[in-house]
Amino acid sequence: MDRFVSIYNKELDYDLPDNINIYDTTLRDGEQTPGVSFTKEEKLDIAHSLDELGIPQIEAGFPQVSKNEQQSVKAIANEGLDANIICLTRTKKSDIDCALDADVDGIITFMGLSDLHIEVKIKKSREEVNQICMDAVDYGKDHGLFVAFSAEDATRTELPKLLDIYKQAQDHKADRIHVADTTGSINPYAMEYMISALRKELDLDIAVHCHNDFGMAVANSIAGIRGGATSISTTVNGIGERAGNASLEELIMALKLLYDKDLGFNTEVISSLSKKVSEYSKIPVPDSKAVVGNNVFRHESGIHVDALLKKPLCYEPYLPEMIGAKRQIVLGKHSGKAAIEEKLKNLDIKVDDDKLLEIVGLVKQEGEKGVKITDQVFEDILKSANIK
Ligand code: MN
Repeated sequence: MDRFVSIYNKELDYDLPDNINIYDTTLRDGEQTPGVSFTKEEKLDIAHSLDELGIPQIEAGFPQVSKNEQQSVKAIANEGLDANIICLTRTKKSDIDCALDADVDGIITFMGLSDLHIEVKIKKSREEVNQICMDAVDYGKDHGLFVAFSAEDATRTELPKLLDIYKQAQDHKADRIHVADTTGSINPYAMEYMISALRKELDLDIAVHCHNDFGMAVANSIAGIRGGATSISTTVNGIGERAGNASLEELIMALKLLYDKDLGFNTEVISSLSKKVSEYSKIPVPDSKAVVGNNVFRHESGIHVDALLKKPLCYEPYLPEMIGAKRQIVLGKHSGKAAIEEKLKNLDIKVDDDKLLEIVGLVKQEGEKGVKITDQVFEDILKSANIK
């Protein structure tokens, strides 16, 4: 057995579709994290890892941003990956031309559609705005692209206004509509309600793009699927603007283990992909970050370690191998006999019970002082206990 999650998860029928598509936007929204700029080589490397994981669609960038950005997107599009390569464009012909020059399979063309965005940014009538959007959809479709039409700030836009433009997008043969929770400010119940309402009126694929301003991005994404969305936007390590996006690794593992929805990803590459993105983005992954944080499979407490060494699932919901990670037992003030015994066994050292208790005491003493018990510190402790 490699997993043991709550037995209550199985009490409900979640009725999730089998054809859930993940389009990862680490290379676009992730790169829009303040201070992050990937080189072309780094982008290619991340794209390869996403492909290896089995991500069906990669949003590779925003070509209009710069010549370099366009070159990076083009390189990824021509890399021969299994994943479908799409990119972001505004609803402007020049942006779409730039995407076409980058050889992508498709575009996400977006426009802010809340009253606030239209008033502050766009300063045109809603009718004019709708027309501009449809012209962009037509232009993309006329050039043979997969076209997703994205309503930025959709979760702060009234339903009739959204339905009106999404229906027009459908009439103009858009391939998918996107619901962007641009400020991460919807809750999961409202997301399910909103997507269900759209689902009833529309016949094309619906995607949700969630931000994590309230820590709800993954929950909102899954609520979106419950409501009838079939495409989810993610980023590795959840990086992205402000509080970031729905984290790819959390979404995949939650679907696989909590909802019994295995999408066939090679989850063993998750750990290395996370490290790669952390290194290239120069954004450290918090130790307590779900799935990929350093502490997720690291244990110190004596009670936990004693049980873990007998049966890891006592204190882990799944085994670290599933994401290509390793369990770590660390020593400190919470350590008990079992952890020290294990450590000594690994060092091929045998001691009697009294000596073992003495070492446990010394480890606790050092740990309490805030000293990190590294291998070197442990060796010093052994010396002071007259071993070695
Ligand atoms: Mn975004």
